[in-house]
Amino acid sequence: MTTIALPTYEDAVARFEPVIGLETHVELGTQTKMFCGCRTEFGAEPNTQVCPVCLGLPGALPVANRAGIEATIRIGLSLNCGIATWCRMARKNYFYPDMPKNFQTSQYDEPLCTEGYVDVEVDGKTYRIGIERVHLEEDTGKTLHVGGATGRIHGASESLVDYNRAGIPLVEIVTKPVPGLGALAPEVARAYVTELRDIIRSLGVSDVRMEQGSLRCDVNTSLNKPGAEWGTRTETKNVNSLRSVERAVRSEIIRQAGVLDGGGRIIQETRHFHEDRGDTSPGRSKEEATDYRYFPEPDLVPIAPDPAWVAELKAALPEKPSAKRARLSEEWGISAIDMQSVANAGAVELIEETIAAGASPAGARKWWMGELARRANESGIELSAVGATPAQVAELQKLVDDGKLNDKLARTVLEGVVAGEGDPAAVMSARGLEVVNDEGALTAAVDEAIAANPDIAAKIRDGKVAAAGALVGAVMKTTRGQADAKTVRDLILARLS
Ligand SMILES: [Zn+2]
Repeated sequence: MTTIALPTYEDAVARFEPVIGLETHVELGTQTKMFCGCRTEFGAEPNTQVCPVCLGLPGALPVANRAGIEATIRIGLSLNCGIATWCRMARKNYFYPDMPKNFQTSQYDEPLCTEGYVDVEVDGKTYRIGIERVHLEEDTGKTLHVGGATGRIHGASESLVDYNRAGIPLVEIVTKPVPGLGALAPEVARAYVTELRDIIRSLGVSDVRMEQGSLRCDVNTSLNKPGAEWGTRTETKNVNSLRSVERAVRSEIIRQAGVLDGGGRIIQETRHFHEDRGDTSPGRSKEEATDYRYFPEPDLVPIAPDPAWVAELKAALPEKPSAKRARLSEEWGISAIDMQSVANAGAVELIEETIAAGASPAGARKWWMGELARRANESGIELSAVGATPAQVAELQKLVDDGKLNDKLARTVLEGVVAGEGDPAAVMSARGLEVVNDEGALTAAVDEAIAANPDIAAKIRDGKVAAAGALVGAVMKTTRGQADAKTVRDLILARLS
């Protein structure tokens, strides 16, 4: 294989127009599986939540879980979709070792919800993402490859299968292709998944945790020359974080531009995203729908939701995240654009909870959007996984408000909290970081600074009050930043007046 020189991202989007599309799978948080009564707890001992139905044993008959259907309809309604009055499940036939029935119960040409949209905001501009369909299906089991270096099947000495996840209800949300985004395609893709996650979380039907796989995203990307037909798309799998959604689109735009520049053509295939390297590698060539030999599932009755029930569900939908953001930006006294960056950083709930724990809106926002966002970014993790809880952030801010910590000391305390050393007050005392307000101790330090800097002291005595800054600095240095700067300044001026 010849090595292709890759263009820069800016160069790629200057010459090619990307078209993206997203397929998102959401694992529903129902108590039991979609077609049997097995439990669905995450992290249970392998193969302890299984029965003849979800193991696909001969003669076992499925029965649909009403809660799964209701959750799918609520997701569809909140994405502005129409709800089918009659539809069927379908068998999607293919062999996979972690799918014991050798077919997946899914939906094909009769999805439960169709033709919706989601509005997302990036840089103060609204983009409408069309939703083609929302359908209901079941999850597969999990295969664990052991003995290999990467957890992949290549090089593994054995593979273990856990069927606990097989049959858990899964909702697939498919967007229409989204053209016309230009250089913003990666950001809009991320904003869409963020919005979708927030909408579904607000419904309480899934915990939508990308790192646990209850929200999984495949990203379709193609490139075309301006005015030309859309190009061949690839489907990037294994995109396990919001940040990765953005990176996957970006890296695929660069890669495809490189292939096209070299006179090559894009192959329709799935690709794997590598979190560590930030790029994709080829997977399998993409099947056509006809390969699956879909047919209506004969063991399940059709789904025919009563329109009156659907209307009831619609009327009872919770406040939309976009409406909530508008309300909160007013309550917190911040602009819509600032609110959007809070949302895009995944910080809305964290800040809300920090305020509920007693912090002021400004105090809560300062930590989550400042120091903690910076750390999350640097480590490439979600803000919610950064290692500090809303209660701890509220406690930290209270220590600042009470004058026990200044900003600089608070950042050091936060470092300890994130490192798992305990709650802020505990870290503060363990590391001896409390602001020194004790006048006796401070007066000694002030006298020392005055004695060491007689010329500066003389200037202050002559009325050049601005020179006090140098002495404040000297005191801060001897107290390792633990003095309260205003108290020190007052003491110096009192001493030298
Ligand atoms: Zn079962």
